[in-house]
Amino acid sequence: MNILVFADHINGQFKKTAFESVSYASRVAKSNNGICTAVVLGKMNDPAKLSGFGANKILEVPYDGKFSSNVYSSVLMELANRENAELVVVSHDLNGKSIAGLLAAKWGAGSVTGVVSMPEFHNDGMDVVKGVFSAKAYARYRIKSAKKVISVMPNAFPPEEVGGDANIESVNISIPADRIEVLSVERAEGKVPLPEADIVVSGGRGLKGPENWHLLEDLATTIGGVLACSRPVADVDWRPHNEHVGQTGIVIRPKLYIAVGISGAIQHLAGVNNSKVIVVINKDPEAPFYKAADYGVVGDLFEVVPRLNEALKKYLK
Ligand SMILES: Cc1cc2nc3c(=O)[nH]c(=O)nc-3n(C[C@H](O)[C@H](O)[C@H](O)COP(=O)(O)OP(=O)(O)OC[C@H]3O[C@@H](n4cnc5c(N)ncnc54)[C@H](O)[C@@H]3O)c2cc1C
Repeated sequence: MNILVFADHINGQFKKTAFESVSYASRVAKSNNGICTAVVLGKMNDPAKLSGFGANKILEVPYDGKFSSNVYSSVLMELANRENAELVVVSHDLNGKSIAGLLAAKWGAGSVTGVVSMPEFHNDGMDVVKGVFSAKAYARYRIKSAKKVISVMPNAFPPEEVGGDANIESVNISIPADRIEVLSVERAEGKVPLPEADIVVSGGRGLKGPENWHLLEDLATTIGGVLACSRPVADVDWRPHNEHVGQTGIVIRPKLYIAVGISGAIQHLAGVNNSKVIVVINKDPEAPFYKAADYGVVGDLFEVVPRLNEALKKYLK
C-alpha cells in the first residue's frame, strides 16, 4: 500500500507534527510493502530531514502562497493519484484538520480524524481508533473505501529516527486558484505551539487575576513548559484565547500537564485527559480534577507554586 503524507512547516522549519506524521506513515507503508511519499509545499530549509524519519520519497511543490486548505487538499489529491496512494496521512493539528475533510470529500475517500492507533488491516477495510465523547471513550472505525484519509493526533506517536536516503523531486503541478485569499497571519513567535508541547503549565480562576500569572511563567521557564489556561480565564481576557484548552479550546496530549487552580470540569478535562502525567494543585481536596490526576498537591497555590519552582530550580541545576 502506497502512502502519501503531508509534512507541514512554519517558515521553512518542519513542525514536530511533520516528523510524527512521516514516522507514522512510513511504519504503515513498511508493514504493507508500500512506498511512503512525503509532500512539502513551499520553500523548505532542509527537506531531506524527512528521509531520516522514514520517507522513501520527498515531493517538493513550488508554492509561495499562504496556507489554504482548499489549495493544499487539491494538491494532495493530485499527488495521491499520481503516486497511486491508497492512504493519505496528515497531522490532526490546525492545518491538518482543515485539510482532511476537504481532501476526503474531493477525493471520494473514507476518513477518520484524530486517530490514536496504528491501523489494522482486514479483508474489507482498515481499522483505526479515535477518542470519542470528549475523549472519555475510544471507538474503533473501519474505513471500507479504497481511498482513505486519516489525521493522526499530535503527541500520540513519537517521531522515530530510522535514517534513510530519500529522493527529493520538485514536482510540476498547476496550483489551483483559491476563492479565499489569506491576507495576513499573525503568529506567536518563538513559542512551541501548545499541541506540540511536551510540558504544559496551566492556570485557572484560582489564580485570581492576570497579575499573578508570573508564578506560572516562572514555573514554565524552569521546566521548559508552555502556558495554557481554562476557558473562563481566556473569556475574561486574563490570558489570550490561543492558550485555552478543553472541549471548546485546544486538545493536547503533553507528557506532563500541571493544572494550577483549575477545578477540573468535564469540559476542561476533555482537552487534557490524555496527558501522560497530570499534576493538580488545588486548595479544595474535593476538586473533581483529582479523579483524573496522577499526582495531587492540596494547598494554596500562592504558597505551593513558588516553593515547587524553587525546589525544581535546585533539582535541575
Ligand atoms: C459548552 C461549554 C464548553 C466549555 N468548554 C470549556 C473548555 O473548553 N475549557 C475549559 O476550561 N472550560 C470550559 N467550559 C467551562 C467549564 O465548565 C468550567 O466552568 C471551567 O473549566 C472552570 O474553570 P476554572 O477551573 O478555571 O474555574 P473554577 O471552576 O472557578 O475553579 C477554580 C479552582 O481554583 C481553586 N482555587 C481557588 N483558589 C485557590 C488557591 N489559592 N490555591 C489553589 N487552588 C485554588 C478552586 O478550589 C477551584 O477548584 C465550558 C463550559 C460549557 C458549558
